Amino acid sequence: MKKRILVFCEQRDGEIANVSLELLGIATQLASTSNQEVCAMIGGYNISNLPKTLVEYGADIVYIADDKNLEHYLTEQYAQAISHIIKTCAPNIVLFPATSIGRDLAPRLSARLHTGLTADCTKLEVDEEGSLFMTRPAFGGNLFATIICPNHKPQMSTVRPGVMQKNQPDSNRKGEVIDVKVPFDGTKFAVKLVEEKIEKSTEPPIEGAKILVSVGRGMEKNIDQVREFADRIGGVVGCSRAVVDGGILPQCKQVGQTGKTVRPQLYLALGISGAVQHLAGMSDSEFIVAINKDKEATIFGIAQLGVVGDASAILPHLIKQIEMMK
Ligand SMILES: Cc1cc2nc3c(=O)[nH]c(=O)nc-3n(C[C@H](O)[C@H](O)[C@H](O)COP(=O)(O)OP(=O)(O)OC[C@H]3O[C@@H](n4cnc5c(N)ncnc54)[C@H](O)[C@@H]3O)c2cc1C
Repeated sequence: MKKRILVFCEQRDGEIANVSLELLGIATQLASTSNQEVCAMIGGYNISNLPKTLVEYGADIVYIADDKNLEHYLTEQYAQAISHIIKTCAPNIVLFPATSIGRDLAPRLSARLHTGLTADCTKLEVDEEGSLFMTRPAFGGNLFATIICPNHKPQMSTVRPGVMQKNQPDSNRKGEVIDVKVPFDGTKFAVKLVEEKIEKSTEPPIEGAKILVSVGRGMEKNIDQVREFADRIGGVVGCSRAVVDGGILPQCKQVGQTGKTVRPQLYLALGISGAVQHLAGMSDSEFIVAINKDKEATIFGIAQLGVVGDASAILPHLIKQIEMMK
């Protein structure tokens, strides 16, 4: 039997999270270099339509646990379901998204299965035997560490959203769907869901934005000007951690190692120095423009276009030029 790579696929209200498809993308690449099979697992209630999409994006086998106990995310219920699927599938590698759900589940499962876990990986490689090399930022992002787990199986890691590439969906792909009946132990369900309240954010999300206008400490006092500029060019406002720490923008806007990983077509860095922890979240952007007063700023090292100057003075000129072009 071939070794297996199992991907935990997250869904909310019947919608598969983008990061799950990204993980199927990297799982397919790893599987092809090490002759392994790609398996997906998904839990929820009334989700029988979802395995088809997972097959289209690269799964050879889909384990589905469709059960009322899994209607809403609750740690113990999901931990029981996933550990049952892992025991049934006996994978060599398990990948989780580094989302709040993945970060909650993966450590519990690694403890239950007595194996290791490397969190927040930004790169995954595999050798012909299926040994996984898991790379992640370490020591505050100042170096990258590659971690292996040679003595315990499965090898497990969480991977940040936006880091890996999805496969092109192929509607002709065929895969096997395995319906899993989980033997839940209800006596261990310590938490009950009483009510679900969904907070609506007024800020557009930075993930998936094609144009991201990111503001750093150097421009945090000019946030209204930055918002206006972003509106004019159809962009979304993001920021560095300094701006979140200063209480100017919420954490969901933060780009970087402890924020979001983004890959827009255009990334504008306004008053951002380019600390390694910031670069970890945006260096794969297609085109980077940086405006900074300091000509030695690190951000210029990765920008395709750099402008040395006061961004608050430069933005009005840019707006004028854009209006003229329109
Ligand atoms: C464990 C850890 C995790 C971290 N995670 C993250 C993370 O996820 N994301 C993140 O961003 N940071 C993160 N950081 C913080 C990071 O190290 C930096 O402190 C932070 O990125 C600095 O933000 P900044 O560039 O906005 O501010 P600064 O470093 O203060 O830079 C401000 C820049 O603005 C320029 N400037 C000033 N005025 C103007 C003006 N008018 N016009 C143009 N330029 C101007 C200055 O020349 C300077 O280069 C993390 C740190 C640690 C230790």
